[in-house]
Amino acid sequence: METVERVARSFVNGSPIAGNGTTAITDPASVRERVGAFAESDANDVDAAVRAAHAAQPAWAALGAIERARLLTAATQALVPSVDELAQLLTREHGKVLWESVADLRGGINTYAYYGGLAERFATELVIDDHRGHIIEARRPMGVAAVIVPWNFPSILCALMLAPILIAGNTAVVKPSPFVPLTLVALLHAIAERLPAGVVNVVTGSAIEVGVALTTHPLVRKVSFTGSTATGREILKQAASTLKNCTMELGGNDPALVLASATVDARLVSEIGKAVFTSSGQICYGIKRIYVHRSRYAAFVSQFAEYTNEIVVGNGRDSRSTIGPVNNKPQFDRVNALIADARAQGATVRALGKKADASSWDDGYFIAPTVITDIAHAADVVTCEQFGPVVPIIAFDDEDEAVMRANDSEYGLAASVWSDDEDHAFALGARLEAGSVFINVHKLGASDVAMPFGGFKQSGIGRGHGFIALEEASELQVLAKRINL
Ligand code: NAD
Repeated sequence: METVERVARSFVNGSPIAGNGTTAITDPASVRERVGAFAESDANDVDAAVRAAHAAQPAWAALGAIERARLLTAATQALVPSVDELAQLLTREHGKVLWESVADLRGGINTYAYYGGLAERFATELVIDDHRGHIIEARRPMGVAAVIVPWNFPSILCALMLAPILIAGNTAVVKPSPFVPLTLVALLHAIAERLPAGVVNVVTGSAIEVGVALTTHPLVRKVSFTGSTATGREILKQAASTLKNCTMELGGNDPALVLASATVDARLVSEIGKAVFTSSGQICYGIKRIYVHRSRYAAFVSQFAEYTNEIVVGNGRDSRSTIGPVNNKPQFDRVNALIADARAQGATVRALGKKADASSWDDGYFIAPTVITDIAHAADVVTCEQFGPVVPIIAFDDEDEAVMRANDSEYGLAASVWSDDEDHAFALGARLEAGSVFINVHKLGASDVAMPFGGFKQSGIGRGHGFIALEEASELQVLAKRINL
């Protein structure tokens, strides 16, 4: 019997729409295998989605935050039994190992529940009666929000934007990444079907056709974007003509600073190793460059190389794999080019780790975990966001130099300081230009859903996670009677 291919389609006002042809999604661990396809929508589909969201918004807002939270939590908890099946799909279209796919899906569902739990606080108005008169401060929805999602952790990153937007009383049009649309579209259809029609709409398709139409549409009031800094700049330009409110969670080049006061042992090395290589380095706030005090440098490099050599690279569905391939061809080419450039500059480049299955290595976008030393500070692999399983390690002589190197970047997403003297690490951390500074930790999960998260400099505008995301998704309104002066 012929099996029907899974196609991710736009979903507008409670119904899927056909689109204009489809584009294939292949398995990054075996690029000749087709996993499914997404439908190419166009500007007319985007317009229909935005108008549906616009029409549904007043009734959704009128329900009140607590009822919205009840509906959203019920809709998303209904997804729990599907997590294992969806994790298989996510690993096939993304490449990541299965436990990460489960973490992405569970993390997304838990994020909706977390924001549901903030509804009462969000609904609470501040009422002031004093000698000036009667004043109310309350939060109001903005209207239609565009939610634009990257490919690296589609479930949780979408939830971190969509949950506060919906609890705040807005309706949404979500644009998944064309690289990893299948799981997210399945999740969003299931959520949208359980909410009033038009509250959640989805548009699949290319960045240029769909992304531009969405971020220039006059009825869109809010753009919530997670993705690269380069795209963030484009979206700000696109949103400028109608002056949309924009929240931007962008790229990073996170430094880790291992101080002279750190004990270099298996725990420290494995924490840093996880922060570098989890998800093959494709995490916005993964460690992208390591600075180690010269007195600890030789010990660190040798233990870190040993740790890296134990990593097993393979198909994410193979239980032997610690990490999978990188997700897509542009990313594969870019990371390999950065490695080649470091080698050409005379750096010491060590491709380490083991292959889960050497015979299928050339079938996918596999890259060995790579440690680079003897590298100049100005090299691209140090200054760029590599977003792959490769990391430069650089020695420093004093902490002022380390802080200067860490801050010498247009990025400022996260950073970490490693020391046995935690008070000193906190003091040094305060000098780093990063939205999150972690002490003796820097891995997936170091940034909790309740902990405000975002970037300094070109790593972002605004903050996600925590209550502040509800503030970012709403307008502050003041209602006042005549004030007695
Ligand atoms: P990307 O910027 O290439 O794409 C992100 C999304 O934007 C995709 O859906 C894409 O189709 C869309 N898009 C692209 N051009 C557009 C345009 N002109 N108008 C509207 N939409 C457009 O990013 P990516 O490669 O999918 O994701 C990786 C990047 O995301 C990395 O830089 C990573 O650091 C960053 N990221 C940041 C965070 C954070 O919280 N700060 C989290 C995850 C990923």
